[in-house]
Amino acid sequence: MKLSIIGSGYVGTTIAACFADLGHDVVNVDIDEDVVATLNAGQSPIHEPGLDELVERHAGDRLRATTDYDAVLDTDATFLALSTPSDDDGHIDLSVMEAATKSLGATLAEKDGSHLVVTKSTVIPTTTEEVIAPLLEEHSGKTEGEGFDVGMNPEFLREGSAVDDFLDPDKVVLGSRTDRGAETLREIFDPLLERAPEAALVETGIREAEMIKYANNAFLAAKISLANDLANVCKEYGVDSYEVLDAIGLDSRIGAEFLAAGVGWGGSCFPKDVAAIVAAARDAGYDPAMLEAAVEVNDRQPVRMLDILRERVDPDGARVAVLGLAFKPGTDDVRNSRAIPLVDALRDAGADVVGYDPVATANFREKFPDIDYADSAADALAGADAALVVTDWDEFAALDDEFDAMADPVVVDGRRIVTRRDGIVYESLV
Ligand code: NAD
Repeated sequence: MKLSIIGSGYVGTTIAACFADLGHDVVNVDIDEDVVATLNAGQSPIHEPGLDELVERHAGDRLRATTDYDAVLDTDATFLALSTPSDDDGHIDLSVMEAATKSLGATLAEKDGSHLVVTKSTVIPTTTEEVIAPLLEEHSGKTEGEGFDVGMNPEFLREGSAVDDFLDPDKVVLGSRTDRGAETLREIFDPLLERAPEAALVETGIREAEMIKYANNAFLAAKISLANDLANVCKEYGVDSYEVLDAIGLDSRIGAEFLAAGVGWGGSCFPKDVAAIVAAARDAGYDPAMLEAAVEVNDRQPVRMLDILRERVDPDGARVAVLGLAFKPGTDDVRNSRAIPLVDALRDAGADVVGYDPVATANFREKFPDIDYADSAADALAGADAALVVTDWDEFAALDDEFDAMADPVVVDGRRIVTRRDGIVYESLV
């Protein structure tokens, strides 16, 4: 099939390259000329394992990019893969989606035959039916269900394993409200379901598809927060939280995944998605107590980490190495990374901060241009008074002699990955 993807960020680029690999003809439309030029040069604009190879393989053939929305006219369906951030009070900010939808609608005015518009972005239930579809009608002059159909296909890929997650998903959720929309969606995903026969297919309504994405993320975020809450209790009683969490994970009703306690969740999705569904619930008159508590526990973890540091080292005037700036290993994404509140608090406390990350330094530098950055963990540790381990990159688990370059090695481990040994004052957050 011929597909257009509006937005070529983490999700848009990944799904475009994967759809091309599945045999579809794909065009990415993005307003960022650099992103478009990079893709057309056969490179991925984002760091994601396996993505460079896919882009290189298909660029100039089944995959291309443009800034021109007219490219949509030659396609059967368009996916909206645009950012949906939360505003200051947590509500979803639909301004990027709305701007792109207006451009898409105006373009579809010229389209002969029907077209399917699929919301790929994470949006609050009713958004596709009550915001996207009316905007498309207004700007295309066509009627939903006649001139075009709308659908919703939430994305569950994780940064750091986006390609594998997309091509080998646990489930594919297809939301539609017309038979034609449902059929076109199924046709688009048939090659994926053939390649990944274990994947469950969930065909549902549009607002259910929208809510499944929030429920999925909220559940995972709350699972980590509950693990952290229990781990904090463990610490108060001198109980090894990892032994406890590993043991409860053996109960199939609980499951072992997402039970690692630590400095908490971040990234481009969990914080804003939990905030948005909490805000939407409150708007509807419901207080989602569990989700509010999940956020509160998460906000506390970096504060607890600094409290532990303070018991050993006064941050005022101390040189503190922050190891790990990405929100998780395997990505250069620093959005809502736990390093952000930690670096903010360290600087407020008068610390001299040096950051290190294997791939995320450039992105972190945009947020914090004034701290020092090291080219290796060893360089960051040299001469530091304390080290905070914030992201569980494998290379931090292998650190050993490098700690000897610290004056009096004090390590506060937010991910329980550093190997304890003589000569290091080791404190685990949980
Ligand atoms: P992103 O910010 O990385 O990418 C958005 C892209 O849209 C950018 O390249 C930007 O230049 C482009 N853009 C902005 N305005 C445009 C316009 N008017 N026309 C065309 N292009 C435009 O976003 P993302 O991380 O890919 O997230 C997209 C959506 O997918 C969000 O709703 C997010 O919640 C959801 N999601 C993200 C992930 C993830 O891991 N990042 C996972 C699942 C779902």
